[in-house]
Amino acid sequence: MSTNDNAKVQRKRYIAYHEAGHAVAADRHGVAFSVVIDGQPRVELAPLDPDIACCITYAGPLAQARYQKRCLTTVLLTHGSADADFLDQQSVQWRLMGWENRKLEQWRLAASEILRERWTAVEAVSARLLALGRMTSDEVREIVAQLGYLPDNPTLR
Ligand SMILES: [Zn+2]
Repeated sequence: MSTNDNAKVQRKRYIAYHEAGHAVAADRHGVAFSVVIDGQPRVELAPLDPDIACCITYAGPLAQARYQKRCLTTVLLTHGSADADFLDQQSVQWRLMGWENRKLEQWRLAASEILRERWTAVEAVSARLLALGRMTSDEVREIVAQLGYLPDNPTLR
């Protein structure tokens, strides 16, 4: 394999971890979704509470950062511009409501906690995504459940 092919394979793996992070967090919140890594990688979510959306948004770049051993900011700047835009918008709205950025920070921590707790699920879902290219929330749930994790709402700390 050429260096270029290796770089492509590596990049696909980063994307799979990123989208698996979003997927595992969405599953934890019991949200229905579909996830695609071919073409334009994305997680399509049913409309939901901006707080939960924030947690799910953080989980993608956080999973990628953990796998790639990079800091979150680097990942957001290079691979997560849509995620960064959403978090920026959310942060502006919360600031207007007088909550400043505390909520953003709380949801970042909640997302980290989900990934820490369910990292084996992120690994399993990313491997499956690489093989299939796309998954539904039911398929993700099956993998996550096989590993013994239940869906529920993480509490804010
Ligand atoms: Zn993302």
